[in-house]
Amino acid sequence: MLIDTFGRRAVDLRVSLTDRCNLRCTYCMPEQGLAWLPKPQLLTDAEIVRLVRIAVADLGVSEVRFTGGEPLVRPGVVGIVAACAQLTPRPELSLTTNGIGLARTATALREAGLDRVNVSLDTLDRETFHTLTRRDRLPDVIAGLAAADAAGLRPVKVNTVLMRGVNDGQAADLLGWCLERGYELRFIEQMPLDAQHGWDRSTMVTAEEILALLSERFTLVPEPDERRGAAPAERWLVEGFTAADGAPARVGVIASVTRPFCRACDRTRLTADGQIRNCLFATSETDLRGALREGGSDLEIAELWRKAMWGKKAGAGIDNPDFAQPERPMSAIGG
Ligand code: SAM
Ligand code: SF4
Repeated sequence: MLIDTFGRRAVDLRVSLTDRCNLRCTYCMPEQGLAWLPKPQLLTDAEIVRLVRIAVADLGVSEVRFTGGEPLVRPGVVGIVAACAQLTPRPELSLTTNGIGLARTATALREAGLDRVNVSLDTLDRETFHTLTRRDRLPDVIAGLAAADAAGLRPVKVNTVLMRGVNDGQAADLLGWCLERGYELRFIEQMPLDAQHGWDRSTMVTAEEILALLSERFTLVPEPDERRGAAPAERWLVEGFTAADGAPARVGVIASVTRPFCRACDRTRLTADGQIRNCLFATSETDLRGALREGGSDLEIAELWRKAMWGKKAGAGIDNPDFAQPERPMSAIGG
């Protein structure tokens, strides 16, 4: 098992398939992009599947989420999903995407064994989308969401980051739009993980503000805490609305900055270049690629992974006076 000194057990593996992306969201990447990881440093498809197999078969991981950069720009994504769906025990498989490639891939991903998707969408206004992502691709994302829903990748979840003065005025519109389509919306507080170090606590939109913005139009009822488990999102039932499966509709807020949920964290992360991160905010990593390429056995690799998780800190520490943003930006960790 992957346990740490605080007794937390990691069962949820996030696998970054690439650090590349076809958008340039202002809160994530600079306009000119970043120096991408050199190809020889990237894990091959077979190496990724081997590490996921070790995580599932030897280390107790039960959920695997593929992320990026943008995971759908990796040519082998469908094959990786298919191979992971054959593992025993079979992990739950999901993917976080900006949605651009989904119209083309949703059916193949579903057939390969993907269970669910989270699609990032911050606005329904084409100009605001262009401002936020520096690309004019809103129609592709909307088509991607519809394709995911039609392919049965349900419940389709939507992730939104609000930026003050840019899209914060559109929060209630987004919720209304998602409720109409049976998508589950979750807002994520902006975190200090952008490559340009532009995050400013004094201007970020807080969970409290998000709830106030939504409450102007909707009646939100807190979902009992015991239903939350290790989920970072706090959830509210939206009175008068039902989800696609007939259950009460919900909206979530991930208050990673103002109400961090580190004490129940159950995540472990693998980067596209084969490094284990025990926290989104970790400042050190454990190299599995080296061990893999030097002929390490499954047992040896599992032991390195265990050690990496054992050293996990109590919390992200964003509020500590000595907080330092990790060198690796969000686009190369995966969120
Ligand atoms: N490209 C894919 C996408 O956008 O969904 C997957 C990777 S992206 C890094 C994963 C999630 O992180 C997205 O929902 C994105 O909005 C979120 N994200 C990126 N930068 C962030 C930041 N600085 N603070 C909070 N969330 C962020
Ligand atoms: Fe790309 Fe996702 Fe980062 Fe936006 S948030 S730039 S889509 S990796």
